[in-house]
Amino acid sequence: MTTPSLIVENLHKKFGEREVLRGVSLTAQKGDVITLIGSSGSGKSTFLRCINLLEQPHEGKLTLGGESLRLERDRDGSLRASDAKQLQLWRARLAMVFQNFNLWQHRTVLENVIEAPIHVLGQPKAQALERAKALLARVGVSHRQDVYPAQLSGGEQQRVAIARALAVDPEVMLFDEPTSALDPELVGEVLKVMQDLAAEGRTMIVVTHEMGFAREVSNHVLFLHQGVVEEEGDPREVLLRPQCQRLQQFLSGGL
Ligand code: ADP
Ligand code: MG
Repeated sequence: MTTPSLIVENLHKKFGEREVLRGVSLTAQKGDVITLIGSSGSGKSTFLRCINLLEQPHEGKLTLGGESLRLERDRDGSLRASDAKQLQLWRARLAMVFQNFNLWQHRTVLENVIEAPIHVLGQPKAQALERAKALLARVGVSHRQDVYPAQLSGGEQQRVAIARALAVDPEVMLFDEPTSALDPELVGEVLKVMQDLAAEGRTMIVVTHEMGFAREVSNHVLFLHQGVVEEEGDPREVLLRPQCQRLQQFLSGGL
């Protein structure tokens, strides 16, 4: 058995008194594509954001490639990374793709992609540029490398964001509803890139409402409801024959 890429154990998160994650765990083996589904407000984004400490959890343990993130209790009772350098590398090892792309608006496409390789990984600029150009070609936006994000369509922006995430060669990629902000006709081009990444063996955790993607591309699905995993398993099983009533309701559009 190889070391799992990512182990998330017993994650709890509160906002004020409200506990929005109540003990969520997940293990991703190398090459797994895990989808996370659930209605709005169920805690999906918070879960992803806790994995890379964009939110501080209150309990839990995170292990990436056999190395656990060192955490210490903050004054407000939540857990923060105790080693800033480890956290910075951690975030690069777990590159995240956001619903609203989160590209740097005042940098060109190419500058967006070379930023982390140079400043986080310390790559020489020439090497970062070469790799960035190859990645932009791969996601089909080479011809746009010198423009600013605002000049791109949503689908192009998201493909640049994926290239930027790939530029640090992450062990696990986190996607938070990567197609939700797109016009319907642009969804396919982004899903296609993600499908190619999955086929290449990339380890991915994807929050999505695209049930087709969950069924066809992911090998494990978790249904989150009010901060708890209510059901999980093989997407072909879970999505076709949901056992719990809440998931049945969710899938029939009633939740
Ligand atoms: P999802 O991504 O599944 O829609 P979220 O993780 O965004 O759900 O949110 C889970 C719950 O936590 C929601 O009730 C939301 O209102 C609350 N929440 C999320 N972020 C914050 C925040 N920064 N402050 C307070 N409450 C938050
Ligand atoms: Mg969300």
